[in-house]
Amino acid sequence: MGEQGLFDKPEDEYGLTGRPLRTLPDPEPVKRHGPAHIISMVNQKGGVGKTTSTINLGACLAELGRKVLLVDLDPQGALTAGLGIAHDELDLTIYDVMLDSRSSILNAIHSTAMPGLDLVPANIDLSAAEIQLVNEVGREHTLGRALRPVRKDYDFIILDCQPSLGLLTVNALAASHGVIIPMECEYFSLRGLALLTDTVEKVRDRLNFDLEITGILVTMFDRRTSHAREVMSRVIEVFDDQVFDTVITRTVRFPETSVAGEPIIMWAPSSQGSQQYRQLAKEVIERSEV
Ligand code: ADP
Ligand code: MG
Repeated sequence: MGEQGLFDKPEDEYGLTGRPLRTLPDPEPVKRHGPAHIISMVNQKGGVGKTTSTINLGACLAELGRKVLLVDLDPQGALTAGLGIAHDELDLTIYDVMLDSRSSILNAIHSTAMPGLDLVPANIDLSAAEIQLVNEVGREHTLGRALRPVRKDYDFIILDCQPSLGLLTVNALAASHGVIIPMECEYFSLRGLALLTDTVEKVRDRLNFDLEITGILVTMFDRRTSHAREVMSRVIEVFDDQVFDTVITRTVRFPETSVAGEPIIMWAPSSQGSQQYRQLAKEVIERSEV
């Protein structure tokens, strides 16, 4: 479909992907929690919206009555900071949980301002993990083992990966049922996506037969630029149904939320960003079949 065709369609009938808009019903409430569907938020490129999407998808799933655990897997700790948890408040982090057999994940969980949304934090300690993991037996499954005690307590666990395809990210993929790939609508993003989908396939072949790409999420979309619209057409052409109907548009409100230390639905509940992440949560529930 050409660029013109894609964006001349009436906005109330067609979404930003050019596909007909669907109204997703509110998902059924869950009667009992768990076992968790585990999702990795992955892209080896930084600044594409992984952490923002982890926080806001997580919060919207919690708003739909799901119990959600977010795990910070980036030594920069942006997810931890983004949920308002100060570095000096940290006792146990995901580093301890993975690499110190005396530490249990049960003691590393923090609740957040959003009911139903919990966090396992990270800090710079985690930067040593890749090297230390190399000598572990079953090194790719270290995170999966660490998560086991809490899988029954949550409906979703979302792993916010660092911008690399190293051993920590491989651990996340090995522990997951699904992968969400946030991407910015830029030409060069497409090349990186091929390497990323290759990695997902390798992990599926060798470590985790059940791994699937839940979806590709276009973030920071600016429909006013023809470049973004062209890349969108190309992304749909190449990845088709793998691309979520939900598109996250560019807005200054997200940089504001990182300052707020809270998900956007808590302080701007009727903003466009809130509506988009709510829609994404419904799509994720639909695609995860939970
Ligand atoms: P990553 O985790 O992939 O590195 P982040 O989620 O930290 O990416 O986002 C990078 C920056 O872009 C942050 O400053 C964030 O506030 C901002 N950002 C995220 N989503 C949007 C958006 N939809 N519109 C504008 N800025 C955004
Ligand atoms: Mg991040």
